[in-house]
Amino acid sequence: MTAERYVFPHKHLLGIEPLSPQDITALLDQARAFEEVCERPSIKIVPALRKKLVVNLFFENSTRTRNSFEIAEKRLSAEIINFDADTSSLNKGETLIDTAMNLEAMHPDLIVMRHSAPGAHALLARHMKASIVNAGDGAHEHPTQALLDAYTLRKHFGKLEGLRVAIVGDIRNSRVVRSNLWLLTRMGAKVTLVGPPTLVPQEMKATWPSIDISHDFDAVIPKQDAIMMLRAQFERGTGAYIPGQGEYSRFFQLNPARMQRAKKDVVVLHPGPINRGLEITSEVADGPRNLILDQVTNGVPVRMAVLYLLSHPHGEQVP
Ligand code: ASP
Repeated sequence: MTAERYVFPHKHLLGIEPLSPQDITALLDQARAFEEVCERPSIKIVPALRKKLVVNLFFENSTRTRNSFEIAEKRLSAEIINFDADTSSLNKGETLIDTAMNLEAMHPDLIVMRHSAPGAHALLARHMKASIVNAGDGAHEHPTQALLDAYTLRKHFGKLEGLRVAIVGDIRNSRVVRSNLWLLTRMGAKVTLVGPPTLVPQEMKATWPSIDISHDFDAVIPKQDAIMMLRAQFERGTGAYIPGQGEYSRFFQLNPARMQRAKKDVVVLHPGPINRGLEITSEVADGPRNLILDQVTNGVPVRMAVLYLLSHPHGEQVP
């Protein structure tokens, strides 16, 4: 009897929530194969998405995610359109659905979108034939960030199961934390959320019962294998939830003194952009335990894997 071959069962990547542990593992394994392509000394390109049209639709600011997707698409030989929201007819009052339907009329195969409205991607997915990839929707999900975080942790530790991960800072406003909570808890990691009570909604325990919540960063640090710092998201109103930046840093900044409390082999992650001197100091962000730029490097093969498995659910060999 032959084992049944795994088929990636999703047409869209709207979030981590709908993914099973097997789907997550398939994405991470596929990313591993693409990492080898990215590390080739010369031609870092494969024809896997040849003749496929990918539209990148970014309605919110992005540095890492947008460039990383574009590099991933180029490495897969896709044809790429970068939709510029600032110069589009959205400024003339066209709705998102109308814009999307008009793009659809040009038959794209994949649409990579970042939008401020949670659920905008699900709406598009209902109206369009193309596969929709969520590159961040408000404070809801940022699935490719969680996948690249998991990839970075798995590469470093060889596993996710049993890892103790503290996610620290502006939990309330972070889409990164929500995607990471789905992923890490599903893969058997032990997550502790840390921050001031105003920035860590207690209700999160109802959705992810296995997590711990703490407001005492110093007490949590010594037990962790990984510490993931989050940016204080002032553009989403974080200022109203903290007494002041000095006070916030005093209790929740990762700095050399706090690193003294950590395990010798702890690793430090941050999705970027970093507020240097606020949630993390430069000594730590650039220090020997940080994996922050590894996260960025790993984003490319991870996004290649996402685009590839959405277009080739049977996961044919990387050509
Ligand atoms: N770059 C991440 C995001 O788009 C994290 C951040 O902005 O703080 O959500």
